[in-house]
Amino acid sequence: MSELRPAAASHTPLVDSHCHLQILAERDGLAGVERALEQAVGAGVVQIVCPGLNLEDSDRCREVAEAYPGVFFTVGWHPHEPAAPDRAQLDALDQLLRHPRAVGVGEVGLDQYWRPGYHETSLQVQQAALHQMLELARAHSLPVVIHDRDSHAEVLAAVDAVPGVRGVMHSYTGDPAHARSCRKRGFLLSFSGMVTFPRSEGIQAAAREVDADGYLVETDSPFLAPVPHRGQPNTPAFVAATAAAVARLRDVDLAEVAAETTASARRLFALPADDLLRG
Ligand SMILES: [Zn+2]
Ligand SMILES: [Zn+2]
Repeated sequence: MSELRPAAASHTPLVDSHCHLQILAERDGLAGVERALEQAVGAGVVQIVCPGLNLEDSDRCREVAEAYPGVFFTVGWHPHEPAAPDRAQLDALDQLLRHPRAVGVGEVGLDQYWRPGYHETSLQVQQAALHQMLELARAHSLPVVIHDRDSHAEVLAAVDAVPGVRGVMHSYTGDPAHARSCRKRGFLLSFSGMVTFPRSEGIQAAAREVDADGYLVETDSPFLAPVPHRGQPNTPAFVAATAAAVARLRDVDLAEVAAETTASARRLFALPADDLLRG
């Protein structure tokens, strides 16, 4: 894991802005989470945002965020959910957002990628859920974490329908022109392992061009490990590999990418600088 050393050696803190620790907890138990957090600290990771996928899943994120300093959570309703939240579910999501470690609304969004068995939720249902969740974010003055798969135009239209909402396009998949549209609306781009994949030219061009205050890094663990860890289960420590890839694209030191993305994550999610992971 030599590629993880530079961040640790330079003591440059990194924030994994999108990591499903609750899925790790379900799969590997708390021992698995603790192992992942220990490796993350070794790689320079100081804080993690754990995004929820629905009401029950967001509540599991709350449990993980309560158990570990440096871990925060968001309250979401993923586009793969078969129905939009009903009144009671919306009220419960609203309650959960009052938690002191809840730092945003998400994942929410639209997903029009299709292959058999991926998901069956109609665009109409996804749009209804997204609109409700954007309104919830506006009511709480919290940022949104957007999942946008093959839905750039529809997501921007949904965001425009709820003025004042800001946030992040997680696991960014656009290109420089789309990136400018997001930045104009006050949205950040969060680069995941996808930016390290050879055929991601559009994403890589966006990473080269985005302004210093306009981007984050994430793992989206346990999904999609970055190069050179492809094929392994993804873990928050690997955010260092993604940050290193972004640094190479921007032709700057890893320390600069770490400083910019950590500052931006703390600004967006209002993360307290003294609430940090412990090794
Ligand atoms: Zn997602
Ligand atoms: Zn995710």
